[in-house]
Amino acid sequence: MIPKSGLPEGLHPDTLAVREGLPATPWGENSEALFLTSSFVHPDAATAARRFANEEEAFVYSRFGNPTVMMMERRLAAMEGTTGCIGTSSGMAASLLLVMGLLKAGDHIVCSQSVFGSTLRLFQDFARFGVETSFVPQTDLAAWQAAMRPSTRMLFAETPSNPLTEVCDIRALADIAHAGGAWLAVDNCFCSPALQQPVKFGADFVVHSGTKYLDGQGRVIAGAVCGPAELIDSKLMPVMRSAGMSLSPFNAWVVLKGLETLSIRLQAQSARALELAKWLETHPAVQRVYHPSLPSHPQHALAMAQQGGQGGAVLSFVVRAPAGQERAAAFSVIDATRICSITANLGDTKTTITHPASTSHGRLTEPQRQAAGITQGLIRLAVGLEHVGDLQADLARGLDALPLA
Ligand SMILES: *Cc1c(COP(=O)(O)O)cnc(C)c1O
Repeated sequence: MIPKSGLPEGLHPDTLAVREGLPATPWGENSEALFLTSSFVHPDAATAARRFANEEEAFVYSRFGNPTVMMMERRLAAMEGTTGCIGTSSGMAASLLLVMGLLKAGDHIVCSQSVFGSTLRLFQDFARFGVETSFVPQTDLAAWQAAMRPSTRMLFAETPSNPLTEVCDIRALADIAHAGGAWLAVDNCFCSPALQQPVKFGADFVVHSGTKYLDGQGRVIAGAVCGPAELIDSKLMPVMRSAGMSLSPFNAWVVLKGLETLSIRLQAQSARALELAKWLETHPAVQRVYHPSLPSHPQHALAMAQQGGQGGAVLSFVVRAPAGQERAAAFSVIDATRICSITANLGDTKTTITHPASTSHGRLTEPQRQAAGITQGLIRLAVGLEHVGDLQADLARGLDALPLA
């Protein structure tokens, strides 16, 4: 009933990123229309009854169906290589919807301990509803395997991780999940489908914070779950209908247009990140640099195979400082920047700089932080589209002024 876009079969992701969606309205608009409407009008009472009974597919109410949101969902699904996608109000709402839709009390999750901080908290909270989570080291396959129980229904990973860019082996995790009768869900926020398509390596579901690279210019909060259409329709859609973590049409439209430039943005931002990472590795005031494209990265080969040869736009580095002065040194480098934005957000065309130990990971205890490698001298950079020479000068200002330890 709701028509397909009418595109030929077999198009490349770059083309789908620009063209996939719904047919234009009779007005023939070239740019996708923004449908700001809460409900839709039916031609007569009998049609309305059929549509409410799910006997006829049509737009009814924007909590669970809207043309602009559907265009975003179809386009993102095409880019991820999944048959289905459902937009959500935020990246966190995507993970909430996934677990509410697929799991029940008594089920068990195995999750990387390096996932986004709010994801950790959300999964810990599910214990109140009878869904328990075991947290395991991101790259330790034996630990993932050992954490499996007969009740395990889902494995959840995020790769590369924030801020240390640890890369996990999606294929190996999918094999562990499937052997145990569980699904593998991957948070693909850092790479986006422009660099990494987790379902190609066996993942069942892909979770997105549309807030990051999909929007790409730091404007809206949005999210999505991509996966098999039958499971999205039968398990996730009923939760969306009743719980209503819906993506607003306006935010969906911003993300929809962001998807058109996603690939070229990520290629360009990833290339700038690598250039900065290589330069930072040579700087005497830098002790260590984390970026998957560097041969010094512990999972370099895996990352290159999984991420289309790209490292992504996020890198971290540790400043060299005398013992006890690491935090002051990191703060002085951050405060000396005049271009970079001091904010924990990422995925923007504007480069952002942050001190994870006192912000995103500030609620951990110092021993927890040390165990996770989030040291006081660590700085995270999410590289944008500024000229790389200007960014280098922005960082050099603070780094060159550090007294060498
Ligand atoms: C930001 C982020 C989220 C949460 O997304 P929101 O849109 O802020 O709810 C989830 N995972 C990762 C990796 C993120 O960076």
